[in-house]
Amino acid sequence: MKAVQFTEHGDRNVIAYDDYPEPEVGRNEVLIDVKAGALNHLDVWTRRGLPGIDPEMPHVPGSDAAGVVLETGPDVTRFHEGDRVAVSAGVGCGRCEFCRDGDESMCVRYRIIGEHLPGVHAERAAVPEDNLIPVPEGVDWAVAGSATLVFQTAWRMLVDRADLEAGEAVLVLGASGGVGHAAVQIAAHTGAEVFATASTDEKLQYAADCGADHLINYETQNFAAAIRELTGKRGVDVVVDHIGEATYDDSLKSLAKGGRLVTCGATTGPNPPAGLNRIFWNQLSVIGSTMATPGQADDVLSLVWDGTFEPRIREVLPMSRTARAHELLENREGFGKVVVKPDSEL
Ligand SMILES: [Zn+2]
Repeated sequence: MKAVQFTEHGDRNVIAYDDYPEPEVGRNEVLIDVKAGALNHLDVWTRRGLPGIDPEMPHVPGSDAAGVVLETGPDVTRFHEGDRVAVSAGVGCGRCEFCRDGDESMCVRYRIIGEHLPGVHAERAAVPEDNLIPVPEGVDWAVAGSATLVFQTAWRMLVDRADLEAGEAVLVLGASGGVGHAAVQIAAHTGAEVFATASTDEKLQYAADCGADHLINYETQNFAAAIRELTGKRGVDVVVDHIGEATYDDSLKSLAKGGRLVTCGATTGPNPPAGLNRIFWNQLSVIGSTMATPGQADDVLSLVWDGTFEPRIREVLPMSRTARAHELLENREGFGKVVVKPDSEL
């Protein structure tokens, strides 16, 4: 079969779409005929190489995918041949105190399909039963294959970790990206007043379509100053920040007294000045979040499948053009999810 793969870390040239051994289906695993799968910024990081993460080579990338069940291992009980499924990428150990509490995104041995483990951007992939979510008939493959990672991430950030309530004010940074556009939709659905930043007016219009009430072009105005002005100097209750060093200080400045900054990533760097004076005086919380529990993923995806939330599809490419998909992400061209399909599906 064909799979996207690379044998060493590096620039986009290391990515190939080539022959790869058929996956072996473990006792608790399901073999999927992959129809579509989105890329995430994680795919770019994994390709470049992350400290402390040493995947077996050649590495097949891809944390998001959806397809049809071809075969099930003998211990699989929830799925049968022909079922439509989407992959949810977080893999807990099942044994540590956090897994036993049902919160496997806190697993001390937490691993992510496509990052620590072989990914799913291939014609076929074997995935543990626990990592599959049923997909109803009528949901487009590109939608099914692009929702799980970003929507579960944004859901846990806002609903669980930041404990967002109706009537609160939320600022979503980078609102046209994967997690950003999911966060805008979830915050609006919760009944929050949503402030969104993006780099162009076109991306901001898209954030407005997703439910943002107030739009801030961060290329032409300082977003913390804009938030002060828009909120009568009060600030917002919650900031969703996955950008890191470039935005952290202004994120703290944007918070109202008692506000919460919730972060799921640091694409511009992980070490901004802590700003402890602002944190203690304004009684702020800085909250981390990663992925979600299987139950949280089920909750938010049921709202994707019924059309309440909609992953925006930026472009659909054949898997042989995965390098171009990385380029779209790295250059921040357009908005929404970049999806790849096996060449044989196009
Ligand atoms: Zn565990």
